Amino acid sequence: MLRTRALVCHRAFVRAYATSPSPHALIFLEHRAGAIESASLSALTAAEQLGGQVTGLVVGSPEEVQVRFECFVRLKGLTSLFHSSSSQYAAPMAEIISPLLEKLLTDKSPFTHLVSAHSSAAKSLLPRVAAKLDIPAVSDVISIVHDLSSNSTTFTRPIYAGNAIATIKASSSVPIKVFTVRSTAFSAAESDADAKVEVKSLDPIDVSDPPSEHIRTSLTQSDRPELGAASRVVSGGRALKNAETFESTLYPLADALGAAVGASRAAVDAGYADNSLQVGQTGKVVAPELYMALGISGAIQHLAGMKDSKLIVAVNKDPDAPIFQVADVGLVGDLFEIVPQLVEKLKQ
Ligand SMILES: Cc1cc2nc3c(=O)[nH]c(=O)nc-3n(C[C@H](O)[C@H](O)[C@H](O)COP(=O)(O)OP(=O)(O)OC[C@H]3O[C@@H](n4cnc5c(N)ncnc54)[C@H](O)[C@@H]3O)c2cc1C
Repeated sequence: MLRTRALVCHRAFVRAYATSPSPHALIFLEHRAGAIESASLSALTAAEQLGGQVTGLVVGSPEEVQVRFECFVRLKGLTSLFHSSSSQYAAPMAEIISPLLEKLLTDKSPFTHLVSAHSSAAKSLLPRVAAKLDIPAVSDVISIVHDLSSNSTTFTRPIYAGNAIATIKASSSVPIKVFTVRSTAFSAAESDADAKVEVKSLDPIDVSDPPSEHIRTSLTQSDRPELGAASRVVSGGRALKNAETFESTLYPLADALGAAVGASRAAVDAGYADNSLQVGQTGKVVAPELYMALGISGAIQHLAGMKDSKLIVAVNKDPDAPIFQVADVGLVGDLFEIVPQLVEKLKQ
């Protein structure tokens, strides 16, 4: 009796494995100014966790892709790399890149997953591809487990500004699981000089009369580290009074620490800082080694963007400010007195 049961179990196990394709992720890799976007490196780590092959896709203008795909072939965890170039791919427009992805995912596709960083471009591209293929998409995931026997993938993602975590299971009935990855939840994939990545060039798909057109990209110029990738961030809130005091108070501290500058939404809305510096639910999500919150109350929408930081330092004159509930180091006092003293000490 026992032997019969064991045999039945074994057969069921073999059948499940025989029918479940081993995972093969297609990852949309992004690049800017000659370098791989760090968020794409985190997405690659997430794709690797599925436990199968990982094929990268790089698109861009002919000049860009020729020069840049070389750096992608050295990525640890990548098994193969597709690259496609066209002047239409110079800007990552969802309407223009989507047909190429749809083709890759339909024509006898080996792919079981489509992955990307939770970037501005991918937040537009991946849902479009999913809608075109009539499959669901999961965004901003912070953990992934793929179960080979049931061919299902379970994701977790923060909801309600990070106050709850939703667990979502994409079952075997979803032929391709589409998801974007929160970069702060996964370490960056490393480079490997000995990586053996198969490279294949793909013909671009020309989109005649596209529904939208890229006019220009205006980038904020700054010598400071990029907010999303910086290991130290100094952020200011409404207490900074105006754009001039925001700059004269925060920037010397950021410079002394080699930190990026961030801001609360109140500071951005009041015009103290550029929109690209906003941290929080509707801004950037950061998880640096050090996050300094200066004159920021600690509203849940702000915490959603920084509470995973390794060391949180808060300066606030209100001892009951909610920011102190997440701070590792709290200083109760006037930031206009404390910050200049900190800068002096750091200079020494
Ligand atoms: C849908 C939605 C999305 C949102 N998204 C975001 C988001 O992405 N990011 C974000 O930040 N907010 C977001 N908000 C807004 C959020 O709710 C708060 O209004 C905002 O974070 C408050 O910014 P603040 O802490 O700078 O200002 P305040 O709440 O006004 O706090 C100012 C703090 O400065 C302290 N202070 C004043 N003077 C001094 C001084 N001299 N020295 C020291 N401390 C001083 C005060 O005690 C106070 O705690 C969102 C809101 C909504 C509804």
